Amino acid sequence: MEYRFAARAGSVKSSETREILKVTERPEIISFAGGLPAPELFPIEALRDVCNVVLNEEGAAALQYSTTEGYRPLREAICQRMKAVGINTMSENVLITSGSQQAIDLTGRLLIDAGDTIICESPTYLAAINAFKSYDANFVEVVMDDDGMVMEELEKKLQAHPNTKLIYTIPDFQNPTGRTLKLERRKRMIELANQYDVLILEDNPYGAVRFAGEELPPVKHFDIEGRVIYLSTFSKIFTPGLRLGWIVAEKAFIDKYVAFKQIADLHTDSFAQRITAKYLELYDIEAHIDKIKTVYKERCTTMLACIEEFFPKKLSYSKPEGGLFIWVELLEDMDASHIFTECLKNNVACVTGAPFFPNGTRNNALRLNFSNMSKETIRVGIQRMGEVLHRELEK
Ligand code: PMP
Repeated sequence: MEYRFAARAGSVKSSETREILKVTERPEIISFAGGLPAPELFPIEALRDVCNVVLNEEGAAALQYSTTEGYRPLREAICQRMKAVGINTMSENVLITSGSQQAIDLTGRLLIDAGDTIICESPTYLAAINAFKSYDANFVEVVMDDDGMVMEELEKKLQAHPNTKLIYTIPDFQNPTGRTLKLERRKRMIELANQYDVLILEDNPYGAVRFAGEELPPVKHFDIEGRVIYLSTFSKIFTPGLRLGWIVAEKAFIDKYVAFKQIADLHTDSFAQRITAKYLELYDIEAHIDKIKTVYKERCTTMLACIEEFFPKKLSYSKPEGGLFIWVELLEDMDASHIFTECLKNNVACVTGAPFFPNGTRNNALRLNFSNMSKETIRVGIQRMGEVLHRELEK
């Protein structure tokens, strides 16, 4: 039977890394492939309590349909969080989404016509690439260095692509590289966006998980023309399973997002929103985030020290100050897919870099996740990878 899918189904496929993750689930394999938060840190007891409180006090409302914009006390709590990072906003400018992934998809629906250009970091977040591809976006990649997207290159690309709609950026502890956009570049990005009249989609799921270095204001902090759409999420600071993210943007954008969200799912899970709002009211989320940061810092430091000890000295790698990932650059002529296969034989897994380049230009990098595993396991896994990398370099 040949099914008659819509034309757009032709280009949509399940994410390559999700396919990889299936292979790496074998118990003997140490996997640095996923991007999962540490499950042992989920606040299960607090959530048990909060679920009871919500069901006792507001059970019917929590289980009822609700407004598309989201539960107002939660939006107000988000405004407080935003204020603390330098974004002054009101609940009218906040829309609760089903994870920030939905916000990315809705942004594609709202802004991207077939052939529109999106400028992004090279590499960038795979699931955003896939979302924007489903709206037939054209990607223009801008090189990065250790301080994030290079602004001179961004300007060149803006000049060369006058039909650019959007700059998509992940300024803090980027997925996949773990790199952070430095302060002057944040200001410059806004200047360029103003000058070339393009929008910025600032995707910031990791900013709150900074465990070293100085805090930086988001790009949106410098936005006086209302051209930055800011996204964040509870996934990395609370739990990803509740699927709660948010958009902060000008009211004109929020109104349109609301209309598209109504088409997608009417509203974000009411129960999840009320549980989270109640948690924020009764518990100290900052103390919880501090715990996450302490653990991730230890794991990241361990992974970096093990890379230093076990990997060939010729390879370079990022040194993140937060987030979940380290990016390892192989030599020009090394093939990450081959390294991946050899690593699997040695019972260790990671993700190859290629899918994170929207135009498929490079395959000589690896992404390693450090959040999801004990220090002891990290050491064994990195040692196994090191054996493979040394062997390949000696060939
Ligand atoms: N943006 C980036 C850069 C991410 O890494 C992720 C999660 N891996 C998301 C968005 C989506 O997160 P969520 O939908 O869980 O909020």
